[in-house]
Amino acid sequence: MPLHQGHQKPDDRPLSVNPFYGETNPVSGMVEAPPKHRLPDGPLPPTTALQLVHDELMLDGNSRLNLATFVTTWMEPQAGVLMAECRDKNMIDKDEYPRTAELERRCVSMLADLWNAPDPSAAVGCSTTGSSEACMLAGMALKRRWTQRNADRYPGARPNLIMGVNVQVCWEKFCNFWEVEARQIPMEGDRFHLDPEAAAELCDENTIGVVGILGSTFDGSYEPIEELCAALDRLQERTGLDIPVHVDGASGAMIAPFIDEDLVWDFRLPRVSSINTSGHKYGLVYPGVGWALWRTAAELPEELVFRVNYLGGDMPTFALNFSRPGAQVVAQYYTFLRLGREGYRTVQQTTRDVARALAERIDCMGDFRLITRGDELPVFAFTTAPEVTAYDVFDVSRRMRESGWLLPAYTFPENREDLSVLRVVCRNGFSSDLADLFIEDLTRLLPELRRQPGPMTHDKDAATSFHH
Ligand SMILES: *Cc1c(COP(=O)(O)O)cnc(C)c1O
Repeated sequence: MPLHQGHQKPDDRPLSVNPFYGETNPVSGMVEAPPKHRLPDGPLPPTTALQLVHDELMLDGNSRLNLATFVTTWMEPQAGVLMAECRDKNMIDKDEYPRTAELERRCVSMLADLWNAPDPSAAVGCSTTGSSEACMLAGMALKRRWTQRNADRYPGARPNLIMGVNVQVCWEKFCNFWEVEARQIPMEGDRFHLDPEAAAELCDENTIGVVGILGSTFDGSYEPIEELCAALDRLQERTGLDIPVHVDGASGAMIAPFIDEDLVWDFRLPRVSSINTSGHKYGLVYPGVGWALWRTAAELPEELVFRVNYLGGDMPTFALNFSRPGAQVVAQYYTFLRLGREGYRTVQQTTRDVARALAERIDCMGDFRLITRGDELPVFAFTTAPEVTAYDVFDVSRRMRESGWLLPAYTFPENREDLSVLRVVCRNGFSSDLADLFIEDLTRLLPELRRQPGPMTHDKDAATSFHH
């Protein structure tokens, strides 16, 4: 999100108003068109204001054709009805909206059970605005636990957090905002995420925790959480250091429990102390909801918890912000109730089937080489085959935009900066039919791309869209 600046120049041309936009009279008595960068002096009729804003928004992209985002772009109309009913409810007013608070509590309890907390009733958790806030909270709990254990050395000693270089940017933000050293494990050859032994080697007495990602945003691969915990167990045997693991399951914590039931990544591993997910990614809710859970109350220092009024008593809360809409939490509960385990399994399996089939077809085209195949997160990355020299991934991204597809191209981080890829994020609502149309568009484009004299995209940053 850009940090917007005010308008630099004196107001340029004001908004232009179609005479038809008035209620009965053309533009209903408006004597002056409204300015764009300064608060207008007077009001506009609602129909005129609506039409002006609506017209401008027509130029936003079509979210369903956005293969860059992990965030939900389609929900059932019934979810929309509930969300509209709840848009005035403030999540923090637990006392005024006790039923909304109760639905949030039920969601936490369902997630504790889904993620195999040894005693779901002992697990604690909360809703957030998304995984970024959830990761900040989980990181704060890790840091505070470390400072409590090291009260004799802190302030003074500098805490660190271990992670792969492929972490989502929220972990870089956490380390920056909370003054924790980010120790990143670089990529190596065809390993595009964290290596358990390398993670254990980076740990020392100032390590507050290790972040494992269930579902790397770079290529959709799962990090080996079980192996990571085993490497940290061995480290503890050798050195006595007992390092907790936080699982960033922004995407995968809502995929693996349904379609990778044998994968052990969650609270079944005693070393996993907290987990987050984005309700608005594969939790299947519109943007604005995430979840953070701790194995037991002992993992979340009591001094970080604030209390708000609740039916004559008080309710503990843990959040960065204060006011927040209740609609997304209600929509999460609706979706849990609506789909159940079986429903989620079917939806996620269908999405994975679409991803795998699409990856397969791209592989068969011959021009591309798959980096991942969509068999972990329903997400895959691919690059151009070595013999392709007429065009590169940035050209493909730019040209696919002509057909409306947002297909991000980006370069991998340090150690593999030689590798640039395209990535497809399949989501519920990206059906096999849409995947067919995607393949048709890509197939039609290839002959033209092959005739290029060489890669044509010079401004590679401008060529593509945000990929996290
Ligand atoms: C998307 C994502 C985040 C950030 O989540 P938001 O819900 O967008 O705040 C963090 N970590 C991972 C692995 C992600 O995929």
